[in-house]
Amino acid sequence: MPQRIVIVEDDLDIARLLTLELSEAGYEVHAFDGGVRGLTAIRELQPDLIVLDLGLPDLSGAEIARRVRRHDVTPILILTARDDVATKVELLNAGADDYLVKPFHVEELLARVGVQLRKQHVGAPKEIGDLTIDPVRRQVWWAGTEVRLSPREFALLAFMAAQPGRVYGRAEIERNVWGEDLPPASNVVDVHVANIRGKLRDAGGFGVIRTVRGVGYALKG
Ligand code: CA
Repeated sequence: MPQRIVIVEDDLDIARLLTLELSEAGYEVHAFDGGVRGLTAIRELQPDLIVLDLGLPDLSGAEIARRVRRHDVTPILILTARDDVATKVELLNAGADDYLVKPFHVEELLARVGVQLRKQHVGAPKEIGDLTIDPVRRQVWWAGTEVRLSPREFALLAFMAAQPGRVYGRAEIERNVWGEDLPPASNVVDVHVANIRGKLRDAGGFGVIRTVRGVGYALKG
């Protein structure tokens, strides 16, 4: 299966060039010209790598990177017309793995894409008892049986897996897994936890997520 790349770039000449070159290099490429559409596509397509233009008409590349990073480790490469140190620092702080200053040579972009995709294979799956979470492939297993979670369910489980046994409050989960996308007074965390529990149970995993009444949830440590 080819590795999938999402490009968000409003300069259509650059977008076309990148699509052509990356497709020829064997990648499956999806290009979008706006930040909001790009962000939605990233969630739906779950690419292996994301290329973001910094200067977009709606959401900037840096803002997209920040939002993706809340629940996603996918490598991000940002294209920027600005060459100053402050911009580069901002991009790295936003969660970019690398950046390229425009104008750039396509050969260099291809090389840097290759580096990021190779690095991605280093992320080792995390094992908590019978539960295995692969942060790179975003897959979950219970005692060897794959548990198919939605991207958001995965993000929630992976977030709590950072510290098994620790109690995570609903507000904390909302902030980190949904960010500002969440309507107020929503029970969406409880609904997602219930769905994850159901799917784990189907695979034989009972009592994996503990409810701490009035506070939130914890993953069995
Ligand atoms: Ca632009």
